[in-house]
Amino acid sequence: MKVLRKEHIKTILVWLIYSFCIIESNSSYSQNSYFSNKKTINRLKTDIKTLSSRKMFGREAGTIGEIKARNYIVKRMIEIGIKSYGKEDFHQVFFIRDSIIKSSYNVLGFLDNQSQKTILICAHYDHLGYEINKRNRKIIYNGADDNASGVAALLELALFFKNNEYLEKNNFLFIAFSSEEKGMLGSKYFMQNPIIDTSKMNFVVNIDMIGRMEKDMPLTIEGLGSSKVLFDYFKMLDFDKFNLRLKKRINGPSDHSSFTEKFIPALHFWTGKHNDYHKFSDDPHKISYKRELKIILFLEKVLMELDLLDKVKFTK
Ligand SMILES: [Zn+2]
Repeated sequence: MKVLRKEHIKTILVWLIYSFCIIESNSSYSQNSYFSNKKTINRLKTDIKTLSSRKMFGREAGTIGEIKARNYIVKRMIEIGIKSYGKEDFHQVFFIRDSIIKSSYNVLGFLDNQSQKTILICAHYDHLGYEINKRNRKIIYNGADDNASGVAALLELALFFKNNEYLEKNNFLFIAFSSEEKGMLGSKYFMQNPIIDTSKMNFVVNIDMIGRMEKDMPLTIEGLGSSKVLFDYFKMLDFDKFNLRLKKRINGPSDHSSFTEKFIPALHFWTGKHNDYHKFSDDPHKISYKRELKIILFLEKVLMELDLLDKVKFTK
């Protein structure tokens, strides 16, 4: 038997310590992500259940339901630590005409990374309100997927970019639009009265309905016709958690269209229509929270990578 020389023993010891460290760090990493994922799911549940509870009366623009939802989103933005842009306490007020003229509010939170370019992340928070049935009871459109799911994701992304230890190359403007269901009035108003210089807008990520991804369903990304760079990026993307359905259409029926109309690259992320779409049955217990979490983690990864690119140009 060959006797181990001193330097052999030393090499083996170093190797053993190194292996132990790797195993430890991997297990604590996966434990960390297990606990942080659990916390994220709890926050998603709280946000979606609160926004789509009966107390919000279906969040119709111009009603008390909109005000309650608006106040909840502002409260969450303050908790997260992002700042109001401008002096209007997170609000951009505009007027809509129903039978009478009413106020409606976009909610804006800003993460200032001292950059000359800003990525906009948006999700509408208004929904269809309620109807009164023959027995004089309110039947409420709770709009859990449309679009409490998107607002919860927007808040989660705000938390991620606020708390990570990396200084991104872009600022982030988080906008919860209102009056989307009345014809994208909030985002149209925003683009007619942009609070930041449009030349400094990099690109837009609109999230509208990401809560109902059933098993084996794809995530649809629309608006890819607004930027060749973004289209090429997603086409080449190596990702195995779910399939992506890439669409070039730039004028789909959600807030991203208000940006593409003005030649700002804008994408729409969603999991598609379902049987409860615009019905009283779009309720929070039908949301797939685990899959929504996967979509949010995907958006975090994608945005971190897109942050490194030069300013994205609008290309048709
Ligand atoms: Zn919607």
